[in-house]
Amino acid sequence: MEYDVVVIGSGPGGYIAAIRCAQLGMKTAIIEKYDSLGGTCLNVGCIPSKALLDSTEHFITAKNDFKEHGIELTNLKADLPKMISRKEEVVNQTTQGVSFLMKKNKIKVIHGTASFVDKNTISISSKDGKKTKLTGSKFIIATGSKPATLPFIKLDKKRIITSTEALKLKQIPKHLIIIGGGVIGMELGSVYARLGSKVSVIEFLDSIIPAMDKTMGKELQKSLQKLDFDFYLKHKVYEVSSTSRQVTVKAEGAKGEKVEIKGDYCLVSVGRRPYTDNLGLDKAGIGIDKQGKIIVNERLQTKNDTLYAIGYDIEW
Ligand SMILES: Cc1cc2nc3c(=O)[nH]c(=O)nc-3n(C[C@H](O)[C@H](O)[C@H](O)COP(=O)(O)OP(=O)(O)OC[C@H]3O[C@@H](n4cnc5c(N)ncnc54)[C@H](O)[C@@H]3O)c2cc1C
Repeated sequence: MEYDVVVIGSGPGGYIAAIRCAQLGMKTAIIEKYDSLGGTCLNVGCIPSKALLDSTEHFITAKNDFKEHGIELTNLKADLPKMISRKEEVVNQTTQGVSFLMKKNKIKVIHGTASFVDKNTISISSKDGKKTKLTGSKFIIATGSKPATLPFIKLDKKRIITSTEALKLKQIPKHLIIIGGGVIGMELGSVYARLGSKVSVIEFLDSIIPAMDKTMGKELQKSLQKLDFDFYLKHKVYEVSSTSRQVTVKAEGAKGEKVEIKGDYCLVSVGRRPYTDNLGLDKAGIGIDKQGKIIVNERLQTKNDTLYAIGYDIEW
């Protein structure tokens, strides 16, 4: 075998596993389909969302609180393109940090999409169309997740968007409609509400951030209402449509009342789904459950005990 361990996916699950394997003396490779390392978290998740929350917190503090301290600002303005490019710099720094760690730990990095040929072999397709094969004694699958959607929603990625597009908008929405009251939606809604967007949240359950303690949801809702958020709780979205400039979202409340909300962007943040597309799991003899998650035991081993699966957090 060419490698003791091959890790597929370089998010926080994969890159940390690769480092540990290398530290334990195993000859390790990591395969990543994107150009930069770090996965969802570093590229289009935790890091960029926190970078924008940081910038917009400065803005809202300057707008609302400076006066009380005797600091007068005239013509305070949010420069969204500048905020986005700063966010990209932060992302670059952190992803380069991961590349440095790979070099330091002598981990072979290969960019391309991995797919199992059999339980000890993967085929890697690179962007230029080349295919190579690689063998390993053990594999760790750390391919993470993708934004989920609802079956009747067509994500056009221009007006009807996921968190990935919301992290790089070119203009501040006038009215951002968010489907789903989870953490990702509330974070990105806060970013744009602080910059002046009207934000409407439609949530199927009776509370926002429903996976957390209910009192936290209530407190968060109160503070977001101060930022010009409207909430439609216990509402089920049944239709989403868009034109080149406008989105229309139709929903129905628990008592059958219908609402129609028009905005310029609709962020669909109804959770994330495991990302195992085209991985060839059947060829490796691995099963998935009803949610699409790879089935593992308490040691994160699949039914094929040389293959492990890690990472991915359904709450985000
Ligand atoms: C907007 C947003 C904000 C978030 N904020 C937070 C936060 O504040 N705190 C927190 O704890 N979590 C947060 N999360 C969740 C966090 O990003 C994930 O839990 C985390 O990234 C999961 O790590 P992972 O290693 O399992 O997968 P990922 O980070 O998704 O990495 C998987 C990698 O595998 C690669 N890959 C997939 N298939 C293949 C293949 N066939 N071949 C090669 N490579 C492949 C992908 O390109 C990707 O780079 C946030 C997520 C989002 C979207």
